[in-house]
Amino acid sequence: MTDKVRLTDGFHRRLNYLRLSVTDRCNLRCMYCMPQTAFSWMPADEILSYEEILKVCRVLADLGVEKVRLTGGEPLVRKDLERLIGGMADLPGIKELCLTTNGVLLERSARSLYDAGIRHINISLDSLVPGKYKYITGFDLFEQVWAGLHAALETGFSPVKINCVIMKGVNDDEIVDMASLCLRFPLEIRFIEFMPIGEDSFWDPGRLMTNDQVKKVIEQDLGTLHEVGNPGGGGPAVIYTLDGAIGKLGFISPMSHHFCATCNRLRLTADGRLRLCLFSDREVDIRSIIRKGISLEELESFFRKVVLLKPRGYEHLGKLQPSCSRQMSSIGG
Ligand code: SAM
Ligand code: SF4
Repeated sequence: MTDKVRLTDGFHRRLNYLRLSVTDRCNLRCMYCMPQTAFSWMPADEILSYEEILKVCRVLADLGVEKVRLTGGEPLVRKDLERLIGGMADLPGIKELCLTTNGVLLERSARSLYDAGIRHINISLDSLVPGKYKYITGFDLFEQVWAGLHAALETGFSPVKINCVIMKGVNDDEIVDMASLCLRFPLEIRFIEFMPIGEDSFWDPGRLMTNDQVKKVIEQDLGTLHEVGNPGGGGPAVIYTLDGAIGKLGFISPMSHHFCATCNRLRLTADGRLRLCLFSDREVDIRSIIRKGISLEELESFFRKVVLLKPRGYEHLGKLQPSCSRQMSSIGG
């Protein structure tokens, strides 16, 4: 464990969780995440190399970051991801290595990801109907994701969580079917409220379904939800179970119940920008200083200073308008 003073922002929040986007590229085009019109990927030379990422993570781990989530774009489209994971697993101080994936490539890589050091996995799945899945993501790949989900359970990842974004008029007819997965599988199904991210997104306030509304639909069909607190500790999800369930249900409600006061997150984009708040376009360029050869000590002092820019909260959230110009696919969720 580090003996340094841990990274804390200007509002006494300890920052111990890094969401690391390893690529902006993706093999899907989810309607709520990608731009609706033409766009281009970041040029390869703008993307941080694994060595550059590990340098940043070494310093952050030394400052008390204990949990890292690899995300994207789709992290599994980046070549040789296991090499990065192995490097992270070797960093003293990193206790939890997690992955968020769309699951399309998971069946073939579940074992190697586990062996490299990932233990916690979140799979994004917004529909159990292959045609609807294709409508939401642009690709007819439901069966591949389903196979990836089973591969994750068989490989022994724990927990395996499903991230599900409910949009009114799109997949709100599947709330009960999605929730029922926790009756059949040891999964945590997490309902994440649709967020207004990105200028050219599918966002429309009329599509927002709050988690209070989602819970009501679940209780009408599946019985009372029993709150079980947050056994994993930390994190914005409120966890429930249902009678007879072998899994759980989680509700992440950034739109209806803001959780800025307990935010412990930093985000690093694939092109090396530190984002201090998901909803704010204020970014700090880490790539340039890394490429100029900053020392580990200098990088440490740099982080101590820049985290003081983390805002207390995001006041525009209630306005139900896209609050930042970057798309979610290039931030990482
Ligand atoms: N490609 C991976 C995946 O889909 O799991 C990782 C990246 S994706 C950006 C991370 C998470 O962000 C996914 O679970 C996705 O459902 C969620 N997400 C994307 N856009 C969103 C939005 N507008 N509102 C809420 N969640 C969103
Ligand atoms: Fe790709 Fe994930 Fe965004 Fe879907 S949610 S487009 S899978 S990055």
